[in-house]
This record gives sequence, structure tokens and C-alpha cells, in this order.
Amino acid sequence: MDPQPPTAPSPRAWRAAPVSALSRAGADRAALRREETDLVPRLLADAERTRVVLVRGGEVAVDADGRLDLVAPEPDAAAGRLAAFLGEDAQHAYVALLLDQPSALDPVLGADGLPAAERWPEAGRAWASLRDQGETLDDRDAGLATAAVALAAWHARHPRCPRCGEPTTPTRAGWARRCSADGSEHFPRTDPAVIMAVVDDTDRLLLGHAAHWPDRRFSTLAGFVEAGESAEGAVRREVAEETAIVVSDVEYVTSQPWPFPASLMLAYRARATTTTIEVDGTEVTDARWFTRDGLARDVASGDVLLPPPSSVARLLIEDWFGGPVG
Ligand SMILES: [Zn+2]
Repeated sequence: MDPQPPTAPSPRAWRAAPVSALSRAGADRAALRREETDLVPRLLADAERTRVVLVRGGEVAVDADGRLDLVAPEPDAAAGRLAAFLGEDAQHAYVALLLDQPSALDPVLGADGLPAAERWPEAGRAWASLRDQGETLDDRDAGLATAAVALAAWHARHPRCPRCGEPTTPTRAGWARRCSADGSEHFPRTDPAVIMAVVDDTDRLLLGHAAHWPDRRFSTLAGFVEAGESAEGAVRREVAEETAIVVSDVEYVTSQPWPFPASLMLAYRARATTTTIEVDGTEVTDARWFTRDGLARDVASGDVLLPPPSSVARLLIEDWFGGPVG
């Protein structure tokens, strides 16, 4: 009898990862263009093609319909203020104007000597937080706004060189800063955090209440990845620290930038191998197992308030639930 030919394992099926609100994008970041000489000033001089995303106090300007309020640049628009190239598509190039951020360590004054807040383009605009309204933006606007808010938060917190303490100045079209003393270059930092849907063998979901949250808010557990730690290790550690639950089978689901100020949320599912909850009492003051019926009932009655639709926590909860809750 002929030996059987070896059989290759069948290919693993691909599963589309759920896409969270702030993970969406439409425009091309066109990162290679950041090296072009005077890219941002040239774009700000092109009122035909360029559209400006306004960022102030961690919020973006929105129009009456809740869409990003993209404006054509006006002459002298960026005077004294930091602008960053966000990307482009067939219609437009997009520049973020970081209204809180001076382009150098100078006060934010225009050529007219007026404080920025008294000049174009702040007057009469509405501002929105991505935390609260991120899911209402379309894909293009969500991507532009998330990058703009992340850059604004980084520039605001990193005016000086971490090596020598001297001032740094923006380079690479707003995507880096260079030290004026030693020439070292510094890039926007992103802090990885894990967030996890912990499910037990009877398919109940573990949700906790953090000490600093509003009353009745319950959400998935989360925490920062520590130095020298894997994301999966952080999932196991955080769940054990906060609730004394032991998990196995840590499985990646999706990610979401969360620029408040610099997190990247890495979302996981994990299987609980124990069920007795003991909260740490400091970070997490309550935690419970929820069945689908129980969660639906508690949300309907107002006994449980879930995290906002823009959050990856909500996505994980609804991924487990099988659709929108409440
Ligand atoms: Zn330095």
C-alpha cells in the first residue's frame, strides 16, 4: 500500500475584527510627505485644496450637524501657532491647527499682536470631545480628528527634551520635535493599555466599577501594560489584581487609539477559570458577573450605565452581548 501523502493543515479562517469608533480612517496619512520642505506653510497658503481641522483644549471644532467643521485656511492663519499635516485624499489635504500650541516657545500671539483666542478662527465655533461624540463622525473625520487630538496632547506635554531639559521645536510637519541643544529627535509616544472582556464557562461577562467613575457605571476591566510586560501578561495581571479572577485563553480582538492623552487600547477576550470575585477596593470598588438577560434588565432600569458608544469597552460588551445593549 502506498504511503499517504502528508496533508497540510487547513488554513485558519480569517475573521474580520470589529472596528471601534476612533479606529476608523478615510484620508491617507501620506507620511512620506512630512519630509517635504515647508509642507505645512505651503498647504496653509492653498485655500483651494487645504482644509483645516481646529483643535482646542483637547476638543475639535464641529458644525451644526456634528460633523468636523473643516475650514479653508486664511492668510496668516497659523501665525505663531503649531500646525501639523494630517494627510490627504482626492479632494483635500488636511492640516490640524493646534490652537493651544505655539509653534515655538513664544506666547500665542498673531502678527496683529492679539491673543489667539480673539482672532480667526475660534470665534463662534462649537467644540466636541471625541470621547462623547467620536462615534457620530464619519470615517474620514474620525481618523483626522483622532490624529489631531493625539498630536495636540503630545505637543502640549512634551515641550522639552527628555535627555537634557532644553526646549524642543516641532519638525516633520508636526510629527516630531527636535532638541535645540543636542539635536535629538523625539516622536509622539503611545502608551499601550489592555482592556478585556472576561467571560466564565457559563458565558457570563465580568464588569467592574472603578472608584473614580460616576455611580452605576460598569465596564470591562482595563489597565496599562507595564515596562517589560506582554499585553497578554498585563491582561492576566490586571484581572487578578482588580478582581482576584484567574484567566486563561487570552485572545486579541481589536485596538483603538484613545488619545486622552496617549493610550492605545488593546482589546482582548479572556476565559475565567475561577468565579469568586474579590475587588481590590481601591481601583475597582465593585465587580459582578452579568448574564445577557441580567445586563439588558439592569441597563433598561438604569441600574447599570455602560461606557459611551465611542469606547472599545462598549464594543467588547456588545460583541459579547451579540448586538446593541439598550
Ligand atoms: Zn536635549
